[in-house]
Amino acid sequence: MAAVFFDMPPVLIVGAGPTGLAAAMSLARARIPVRLIDKAARPDPHSRAIGIQARTLELLEQHRLIEPFLELGHRARAANLYSNGQRLARLDFDPLQTRYPYLLFLDQSVTERLLTEHLATLGVEIERGIELAMFSQGAAGINATLQHSNGHTETLHPSYMIAADGAHSGIRHRLGLNFAGKTFEQTFLLADLLGDTDWPDDEFHIFASGDGLAALFPMGSGRYRLIADHPAPGVGDSKTAPAGAAGSRDAPPRAAEASGGASAQAAARTISHGLPHASPQSSGDAHAASAPATASPSAPLPPPTLDACRTLAAARVHHPLALTDLKWSGYFHLNSRIVEQLRVGRVFLAGDAAHVHSPAGAQGMNTGIQEAFNLGWKLARVLGGGAPDRLLDTYHLERHPIEREVLRQSSFVTHMAEADHGPLKLLRDRVMPVLASLGPLRDAARAQISELAIQYRRSPLTLERVLDGGPRAGERAPDALVHVIDGPLGRAPGIGCVFDLHDPAFFSLFVLVAPEETDDVPLDRPELALRRKPVRAEDLDRLTADVDALLPGAVRIWRVTDAVGDRGPLLAESYGRTRPSFYLVRPDGYVCARGRVSSDLHGLLRHCESWFAKGAVPEPPTPLT
Ligand SMILES: Cc1cc2nc3c(=O)[nH]c(=O)nc-3n(C[C@H](O)[C@H](O)[C@H](O)COP(=O)(O)OP(=O)(O)OC[C@H]3O[C@@H](n4cnc5c(N)ncnc54)[C@H](O)[C@@H]3O)c2cc1C
Repeated sequence: MAAVFFDMPPVLIVGAGPTGLAAAMSLARARIPVRLIDKAARPDPHSRAIGIQARTLELLEQHRLIEPFLELGHRARAANLYSNGQRLARLDFDPLQTRYPYLLFLDQSVTERLLTEHLATLGVEIERGIELAMFSQGAAGINATLQHSNGHTETLHPSYMIAADGAHSGIRHRLGLNFAGKTFEQTFLLADLLGDTDWPDDEFHIFASGDGLAALFPMGSGRYRLIADHPAPGVGDSKTAPAGAAGSRDAPPRAAEASGGASAQAAARTISHGLPHASPQSSGDAHAASAPATASPSAPLPPPTLDACRTLAAARVHHPLALTDLKWSGYFHLNSRIVEQLRVGRVFLAGDAAHVHSPAGAQGMNTGIQEAFNLGWKLARVLGGGAPDRLLDTYHLERHPIEREVLRQSSFVTHMAEADHGPLKLLRDRVMPVLASLGPLRDAARAQISELAIQYRRSPLTLERVLDGGPRAGERAPDALVHVIDGPLGRAPGIGCVFDLHDPAFFSLFVLVAPEETDDVPLDRPELALRRKPVRAEDLDRLTADVDALLPGAVRIWRVTDAVGDRGPLLAESYGRTRPSFYLVRPDGYVCARGRVSSDLHGLLRHCESWFAKGAVPEPPTPLT
């Protein structure tokens, strides 16, 4: 059912790619009005991003739209890395502590369709054929001029604006933000085709050799995505990208009356000469982390043919593989670039508008979706709940370090995979197989790739107290099987899962009590019982009432205890053994505060008052970790 929205100016979201769609979902779920515009008349039909990581899947589950993704996507449960035909390492995703221990492959066009359909159920439609032509911001707010494709011009005064307008972001240009980084020297080939091979179809393969790199990702029904490097002259590292390269260092700040849309168009025009339009299998705008490749500034490379893909695979893939039925293909350059700040006044940059990088590790689209969720609840809290504006500054504080790390790692992996001599080759061929055989390192690699390791422990939004196990404040709130004793409006659904109880429109406060609510004792250490006071029912009631009063309508409080069953991990495994304890989970699924009911209640209330409540107190608490 469509949401009833607050009566307030909308948040303007520019760009209906995965980032803009996710931002709109997050805001609409919290009943904040949005306008989601896209200058394109219809969605991009090409696949581009194919890998959806476990953490993104968990978040989609919390947004109640996981089923169609699981139905349509193809699961890859392991990665294999080879050098000159010899397998160096195999990384199995099975041990990941999640309901989704795999990488889900799905065309980006399908991902966007599913997000769009879900958004419609929340009452939001994409407004297509509308371009942000110009904007300015000052003390009075934002003035945005929207150019409709039928020639109509509209002026809008949104509360905030999210720049989800992609790698060639006109908003980034308009704000004069630097987009520093580099362009990789090589051209990369990308193709979607059928592959006949005896490989299990739930694993992907990355081949490094003196000839170059080739990677094959299964898409289901025998289809594969092939990515390979292909040296091309004329593109090199630079602090300042070549004019027109995707993610090029932006033009100097424009005069106030200059048009953001015009700069976006200019960027698109400069780039579009390189688009592989010519062939039915052409890729369209293979941009994002990439600029379409050109043989010379004015001569686009024709898209790779099936024969070119076969020749390349024959040289680099040391395994029987027959390629047929090329669906589409293209060449592209990789960029690795990032803005220095994600917020400028009332404008926030997200997704490819803020950072572009190598698709190695399949992080780009996932990063954009996750930062949209990070920003969405904060905007909702400020607009709908009167939280202080500085909550919005934590978007940059929390997400920028993660984006920088994604850039660093994806560049490193790309360079290492394609190295044909020197220390990087040595590292890949000699050191990596040894490292990959070490359990803890394999675990760390899995958690990193799947994005389950993302955490905000150093964020000022965290309030950490030492407990016996469980996620620390700032870490992802994992799933667990619970027995619900009491819930919002007296709901006690019996046995449930943390992921089912958490709704991303709200904070969730989980109060963990021992099965009989009697003792503040770790379950496996009964010897401590004599030194601990039993929990008082009044403490629990006070906690519930005080938090509810501070965040009216914004928090759902669940009193839970251990349950037995096979629908999820045990509560003690996921959330430790301290009872009674509390975990405050942010709308985007991360723990922001935890502690003991008996001693940390005051700290929790102060923390909520400082960051999330109306009329915040001036002094923020110092982060403890
Ligand atoms: C070949 C390739 C493979 C990739 N593989 C992966 C992968 O496996 N996994 C992964 O996570 N990522 C991958 N990526 C990256 C991924 O495609 C991007 O990160 C993702 O598309 C970014 O989404 P976005 O919403 O930020 O921007 P976009 O998808 O670029 O959307 C921006 C939108 O803004 C609109 N727009 C622009 N300017 C305006 C304006 N002025 N007014 C109105 N609308 C405007 C555009 O029309 C567009 O629809 C890959 C990228 C490429 C090119």
